[in-house]
Amino acid sequence: MEKILIANRGEIAVRVIQSAKKQGIKTVAVFSEVDREALHVQLADQAICIGEAPASKSYLDMDKIIKAAKETHAKGIHPGYGFLSENAVFAQKVEENGLIFIGPGSEAIQIMGDKLAAKEAVSKYNIPMVPGTDRALTDIDKAIDIAKEIGFPVLIKAAAGGGGKGMRIVEEEKALPEQMKRAISEATSAFGNGAVFIEKYITSPRHIEIQVMADKHGNIIHLFERECSVQRRHQKVVEEAPSSVLTSELRSKMGAAAVNVAKACNYVGAGTVEFLLDEHKNFYFLEMNTRLQVEHPVTEFITGLDLVAMQFKVAEGKKLSIKQEDLSINGHALELRVYAEDPTNNFLPSIGTLLKYKLPKGNNVRVDNGVIEGQEVSIYYDPLLSKLISYGQTRAEALSNMLKAIDDYHVQGVATTLPFGKFVFSHPAFVSGNFDTHFVKKYFTEDVLLKQQKQEAEIAAKMALYHYLKEKKILTLPKI
Ligand code: ADP
Ligand code: ADP
Ligand code: MG
Repeated sequence: MEKILIANRGEIAVRVIQSAKKQGIKTVAVFSEVDREALHVQLADQAICIGEAPASKSYLDMDKIIKAAKETHAKGIHPGYGFLSENAVFAQKVEENGLIFIGPGSEAIQIMGDKLAAKEAVSKYNIPMVPGTDRALTDIDKAIDIAKEIGFPVLIKAAAGGGGKGMRIVEEEKALPEQMKRAISEATSAFGNGAVFIEKYITSPRHIEIQVMADKHGNIIHLFERECSVQRRHQKVVEEAPSSVLTSELRSKMGAAAVNVAKACNYVGAGTVEFLLDEHKNFYFLEMNTRLQVEHPVTEFITGLDLVAMQFKVAEGKKLSIKQEDLSINGHALELRVYAEDPTNNFLPSIGTLLKYKLPKGNNVRVDNGVIEGQEVSIYYDPLLSKLISYGQTRAEALSNMLKAIDDYHVQGVATTLPFGKFVFSHPAFVSGNFDTHFVKKYFTEDVLLKQQKQEAEIAAKMALYHYLKEKKILTLPKI
């Protein structure tokens, strides 16, 4: 591929462009009318406006994107994550138009895009699964019977759900009918598919996922795990690799299970197999994400690989150049998703102009950034500004590098998750590695952050006063 089009925006578009440049591949960016000045547009070799701000009129418009690729003679399309990345129809259309979809085949996307179909596809490989139904539920009485059998609390999930959406915890029998009705209607409106099912609600799980990479010749490897247990709204905010609780034996077992999941759908490219790990270290298959994952940089740090470059190679039909036994984990990496969200106000999106935007620097720090100073953060898209990633030979070193990087990251104009990150990375439960997916609910309150911010403001005020007085003294010294 001499040239590719990136059907995305923000940090992931920038990330893909950077790898393409390193590989000598020319890049075409697409953008909506509000993204004219965006970083990904500035960095690409070429850029094409594909429509108005609402994603449905631009970044989700398959035909306009394919037309842009043809007009610019791009050979392949990288979908990033979100938007059209897990859309089987899009993947198929791209291929039908003689272009390479940098991702798996449309069939794999379709199977894994439906959590029930995914469970069915992997069932022949004996992958452990959360107890629950293997079919969509419509009958309330049947749902009650099943829930009683597996035991409350249960989780109602949308088969087509994603991004942490479409899940409802049900604590007791009498709440089930109402919650089922709501879940079905929500799933219908959010995903255009009302199929819901029930899973046992694992009370104290950790979210552990395995990165896989497969070529078109049947070779599949796994690139170890990432732990993503720190979540808000069932969505990740902090990730790390490796997990602090996996033994090498469990890692191999989960890795082998993930490779089998990929095999079950003839997977090609980069993918992630998500599991829950319970208190007794039993793991259960959750779903497979058929794309590059937001948190892939932590895997790149500990393996020394460029996952996007590998995606390009396997998409072109090249064989994987490394084998499972060549891979090893080196050091530890942490990631904070820097969202324009207000952690002191329920993590609600924070919109506005980036009045100040200064990134931290350093050897063991990487920022996958998608925005620039002066830019508007709008309501139209996901509020992810960047990802802050730190590395160290040990977890403690990575933590210390992360805390320093957070202090060196300066944003004014919108609220961000940076102060929340500081809270997480200095919290004893996170530092000790003893935490689960309820970390935020258990330990985080808005007050903690407000108190922390107040203390910091006081220190800053005292420092300013100190410097002022010191300077004054110097100024007045000669006179004395
Ligand atoms: P990851 O597992 O890669 O961390 P997330 O669940 O955080 O993925 O989602 C990544 C991005 O994709 C986010 O921008 C999220 O809003 C979006 N996303 C994922 N699945 C869906 C979906 N089914 N519908 C809409 N957006 C989704
Ligand atoms: P999505 O497609 O939205 O990413 P997932 O099935 O991957 O949905 O689940 C997202 C998160 O929801 C998990 O990381 C976990 O925190 C929580 N979750 C999902 N299923 C269960 C379960 N059965 N028990 C407890 N928590 C769950
Ligand atoms: Mg998931």
